Amino acid sequence: MAKDFYDTLGISKTATQDEIKAAYKKMAIKYHPDRNQDKKEESEKKMKEINEAYDTLGDPNKRQNYDRFGSSGQNGGFGGQGGFSGGFNQGFSGFEDIFEDINSMFGGASSRSRRERSDGRQKGSDLRYTVKLTLKEAYLGIKKNISFKALGKCDQCNGKGGEGVITCNECNGAGTIRYQQGFFIVENTCPKCRGDGIMIKNPCRSCKGSGRKEKEFNITVDIPRGVSDSDNIRVSQSGEAGIRGGQSGDLFVAIKITEDDFFRRDGDNLICDIPVKFTRAILGGEIAIPLIDGTIHKLNISEGIQNGDRIKVSSKGMPRYNSNNFGDLFIYIKIETPINLSKDQKRIVEELDRSIDDKMNPKTNNFINKIKSLFN
Ligand SMILES: [Zn+2]
Ligand SMILES: [Zn+2]
Repeated sequence: MAKDFYDTLGISKTATQDEIKAAYKKMAIKYHPDRNQDKKEESEKKMKEINEAYDTLGDPNKRQNYDRFGSSGQNGGFGGQGGFSGGFNQGFSGFEDIFEDINSMFGGASSRSRRERSDGRQKGSDLRYTVKLTLKEAYLGIKKNISFKALGKCDQCNGKGGEGVITCNECNGAGTIRYQQGFFIVENTCPKCRGDGIMIKNPCRSCKGSGRKEKEFNITVDIPRGVSDSDNIRVSQSGEAGIRGGQSGDLFVAIKITEDDFFRRDGDNLICDIPVKFTRAILGGEIAIPLIDGTIHKLNISEGIQNGDRIKVSSKGMPRYNSNNFGDLFIYIKIETPINLSKDQKRIVEELDRSIDDKMNPKTNNFINKIKSLFN
């Protein structure tokens, strides 16, 4: 009499169907021949036992018969009787589910659907390239020439990989090879055609049939004005060439804007600090400010402008992406105190100081009064 099926799967006689299934799965993974290359024969034998046990215990009808008669009825004394063969088929379809699971764990047949299989053509990979721009370039928009090495179309065969197509004689066009391993049917990608099912009759010598060769790409990228840091510009079909004439991938140009010495960017607005002479701040008048486009803008500041005051210059910021409008420019006034005054100059300032009364410096006056009240 053969080994006890319950012992084979390492379960008790009262195990539920789910427990049986789980035990089988665990064992099948453990003893899968792919995982036991060093003791293949042994694991195949073990696998056969496990399969036999599960074939019976995994089916409630057959399990009942086995429990009562010590046989599932399929290869014992009940083989000739009707009623059991139906159960056998049913049981077997449940079996396949588990095989699906287990085979996919070992990279077998189930993973095939992931692969694009038609005439051997495959789309090339997308590429990513980072372009550094100055803020001014981002403001103006620019055509940038970029060059890099990647797999491009083979010139020799025009990307086709060669002449003529034949069915792969290894897999007869299936793209996969199936073979029996114990109770398993193992299905692997055909090593000769790599799953395509076809091969090039006269492969191109230059690219060995792939239709691609490493090349220098020289591409002009049209970068629109108003782009921002970490924007991506897609250049359609300028990525890696496809296999055997397949469509090229896309090129993604990532924008990296270098920091500007003068302007800070806040969305579409620009911000900058402008130093203003102390006397100009007192008298008011025209000051010259540089703009991002490289021109000079004349700006009138009011008499008595204060340090830290903000002035808005409308529409002198960054262009709004995909629009004709612009953001604004915000200027922060930084009043500079003159240094290294001569004796004469100091005398003039002292004279000026004496002539300025407290009301002309309201903030300072307020502050002094506050201090005074603290000490009174
Ligand atoms: Zn093949
Ligand atoms: Zn070629």
